[in-house]
Amino acid sequence: MRDKCGIVGIYSSDQSRDVATPIYYGLFALQHRGQEAAGISAHNGKEISTYKGMGLVCDVFNNGEIEGLEGNVGIGHVRYSTTGKSKLKNTQPFTSEFQDGRIAIAHNGDIINSMELRQDLVDKGHEFKSTTDSEVISHMLSSEYAKSMNMIKSIENVAEKLIGSYSLVVLLNHELYVVRDPVGIKPMALGEKNGLKMVASESVAFDVVGADYIRDVEPGEILLLNEKIYSHKMKIAESTPRAHCMFEYVYFARPDSILDGKNVYNVRLNIGRELHREFPVDADVVMPVPDSAITAAIGYSRASGLPYGEGLIKNRYIGRTFIMPTQEEREMSVKLKMNPIKSELEGKSIVLVDDSIVRGTTSKALIDVLKEAGVKEVHLRVGCPPIISPCYYGIAMASKKELVAANNSVKEIRKSLGVASLGYLSIDSLKKCIGLDEEKLCMGCLNGKYPTELPKNLKEYESCRC
Ligand code: SF4
Repeated sequence: MRDKCGIVGIYSSDQSRDVATPIYYGLFALQHRGQEAAGISAHNGKEISTYKGMGLVCDVFNNGEIEGLEGNVGIGHVRYSTTGKSKLKNTQPFTSEFQDGRIAIAHNGDIINSMELRQDLVDKGHEFKSTTDSEVISHMLSSEYAKSMNMIKSIENVAEKLIGSYSLVVLLNHELYVVRDPVGIKPMALGEKNGLKMVASESVAFDVVGADYIRDVEPGEILLLNEKIYSHKMKIAESTPRAHCMFEYVYFARPDSILDGKNVYNVRLNIGRELHREFPVDADVVMPVPDSAITAAIGYSRASGLPYGEGLIKNRYIGRTFIMPTQEEREMSVKLKMNPIKSELEGKSIVLVDDSIVRGTTSKALIDVLKEAGVKEVHLRVGCPPIISPCYYGIAMASKKELVAANNSVKEIRKSLGVASLGYLSIDSLKKCIGLDEEKLCMGCLNGKYPTELPKNLKEYESCRC
C-alpha cells in the first residue's frame, strides 16, 4: 500500500534565514510517506526558486541544490503517485505563474472530482502542464483570485468545489497558506521554534528540526503563517463531520508521530493489547512482521505475558517502489525483503502480528517463508479489521476484486494462508485503541461508509489512478 505524499511548510521571522535546510530535514522525517520524488520551493522576497526530482530526498538533494533555494519562507513535498503517473512533470511543489506573481503548491491527498473540475477548466481555456490534482487546484485558485484578489476567500471558494482529501501548503509569492480539508482525512500539524513557524503532515518533522508540536491544523482551517499565525475556519467545515483516516494510526504514520492529538505509538500498543484480548492463544513467542507491526506485537506480548521475539529481519534498502509485475516475482520480492532467523523459529509455535492484510499475497508468501524456516505453527493476528472496500482518498491499496477480505470469509482466508488461527482486530476495538468515535474516523475501506461523495464513474476514476 502506498500513501500519497508528505508535506512541509516553514516561515521564519528572521528574513535572512533560508528555510530550505529545515524543510529538507522535515522531508527526510516524512520519507516513509513517499519515495518516488521530492521537491522544495522557497521565496526570498523577490522570487520563488524550486528544485525537485525523482527519488529519495537524499538522492534529489545530493549536490548542493539546497544552497540555491534562498528565502525565509518555503514548502516541500515527498511524493507517491496516485493521480498522475510517476514522472518528473508531476513532481511537486507544482509551480506556475499567478495573477500577481508566482504560486507553488504541495498537496497530500486525492481529489475525487478532479477529472470533472479539470475538464471544466479545459473547456474554459486553461492549459495544463501536468496530470496532477495540484495543478487543478492551482488553476481553480487562479480563477477565484482574479475575482477577489483575496487568497483566503479564494481558497474557501475552491474548497467548496473540491471533493476528497487534501492537506495543502501554498506559497503565493512571499506568503505561506496552509489548508486542511473540512473532513480532515489527511493529517497536518502545526509546530513552532524561536520565530520558526512550521506545518507538516506528521509531527516527527518538527522533532528533527527541534520545533515544538503546538496543535493539529483543524479540519476546514486555513492558516496564513507570517509574523503571527492567522487562522480562518471555512464555513463548510461547520456542517461537515470529521473523518480522520484510521489507516494513518494503523500503518502509515510513524509510531513517533502525534496525529490529531493521539500518540501513534500508544495506539499501536493498544492494538496489540486488544488483539490479545480478542484472540488469546497459547504459543512460544510473539513476533512482528517488521517494521510496521513491531509496536502492536510488543503490545500483544505485554498483554499476554508471552515473550517478544524477532523471527524475520527486514532488508531496509529495498524501496517501496520495488513493484513486481508477476506473482512469482512478487513472492521473490518478499524473500528479498524479509529473511527468517531459523534458530529463532525452528519447532516454535508463534503469534505473528501484522498491521493489515490487503490482497493476502504478501502474507501468504511470508507464512511460507516462516514454514520453510521450520516454524511449527503460526497464529496470525492482524491489527486492522478486514479491508473490504477500496480507498478513494489517496491510499493506493487495491480494487475491490483484489481485496482478499472482500471476497472471502475469515475462515477461508485462514485456510488459504495455511495458518493455525487467524484473528482480525474488530472495528469496535480499533475505535477504542485510537480513542476516537466512529463519527470522527474515516473507516470507508472497512465498512464501505465513506465521508464524502464517491466518484461518479468509478471505472474511469480507477483507470486514471496509478
Ligand atoms: S478509506 Fe480507508 S485508507 Fe482511505 S482514507 Fe478512509 S480509512 Fe483511510
